[in-house]
Amino acid sequence: MVSRTSQDIRCLNRFEVLRHLYGGDEARSRQELATATGLSFATVANLTSELLEAGVLVEAGRAGSGGGRPRALLTLNAERGALIGVDVAEASVRVELFDLALRELHVQERPLPPDLVEPAQVVQEIAAGIDAVLAATDTPAEHVLGAGVSVPGLVEREGGVSAYSPYWAWRQVPLRALLAEHVGIPLYLDNPLKASTVAEMWFGAGREVDDLVVVTLRTGVGAGFAVGGALYRGFTNSAGEWGHTCLELDGRLCRCGSRGCVEAYVGTRGVVETLRAVAPDDPLLDTPDGAGVLRALARRAADGEPVAEEVVERTGRYLGAAVANLVNLLNPEVLVLGNQVAEQLGEPLLARTRAAVDRHALAQPLRAVDLRLSTLPENAVSRGAATFALEGFLNNRELFGSVSRARASRGRGGNRTAGK
Ligand SMILES: [Zn+2]
Repeated sequence: MVSRTSQDIRCLNRFEVLRHLYGGDEARSRQELATATGLSFATVANLTSELLEAGVLVEAGRAGSGGGRPRALLTLNAERGALIGVDVAEASVRVELFDLALRELHVQERPLPPDLVEPAQVVQEIAAGIDAVLAATDTPAEHVLGAGVSVPGLVEREGGVSAYSPYWAWRQVPLRALLAEHVGIPLYLDNPLKASTVAEMWFGAGREVDDLVVVTLRTGVGAGFAVGGALYRGFTNSAGEWGHTCLELDGRLCRCGSRGCVEAYVGTRGVVETLRAVAPDDPLLDTPDGAGVLRALARRAADGEPVAEEVVERTGRYLGAAVANLVNLLNPEVLVLGNQVAEQLGEPLLARTRAAVDRHALAQPLRAVDLRLSTLPENAVSRGAATFALEGFLNNRELFGSVSRARASRGRGGNRTAGK
């Protein structure tokens, strides 16, 4: 076990308070925040005065409380600074600029040529995207508190290294250092599974529950876990590679070099392969763009076209069997299906997945879990990446340093912690 210092705990409590202000539009009183977080009123008062001092929160009027003394309402100070979230995917780089309240200010999507494999070229695209969103909004770079970058594959977060990327056969690429040569703002590197999960923790299902599984279904497939309100990373930050667990012995070839992986069946390309198996001559198979295939399949299935319905049916069966493993292993309260495949195939895929989970999961964890589609606005990955930058800023010990004031008086609610 990692022993937490009082500063760590204080930082986690700071996240906990703020998580109840993000994602909702309304200002909250200290009393409401204490009730929502389970922290004592004194702790909340202490944390909020620090956040007010740092300009992260501002007062937003007062609310009468049934004849009692009116209570000061607190809200996020969106103007305090900007945050950037970058989603490096197989075919594009998406750069999104947010204010401190994580409201989108501007977004730019830059296509990556299919033959592009060199880290230097990807770095150039990210840097150009950042310059472009800043220029489009007249935002000086000094106003940006941090940029989070999500790259597919395995990431060594502390060192900012892309350890392994199945797309481009990258090994041990020092991506953060390469990017820092072009971008003079604090940079945070991680992968889409972690980014999607953190986005759900701050803005989606994780605002309501502490034990959460977030399944990411795009070209790459994986899962992220919030356990007791904290992001679970594993020993070397590679937890969640559920996409490369085996669904079928000697099954389809996967990009990782193995056979029968979950990703080869329920990732974007996996769905295309299922279409090929159902209807080898389907004209849709000539479409190079996977998202386009998914969109067309969803339309055809909605019209009751049998080939498309069969593809959705089979995808739901594969996904349900694999999701049942997560339900049995982790006993989550909520399991969210998100990203490209879930967005495009939507409710019909959810219904078929549910039916398959019912057949495969054990009765007790099955009863406990609420299986649902993500409700986050597009795009969970860049939003989550920006949230890493927000967390990095909130971890700043110079800004929130004075431990002398820290009397970590914890109220009811036990050791609830936010992701770090
Ligand atoms: Zn694999």
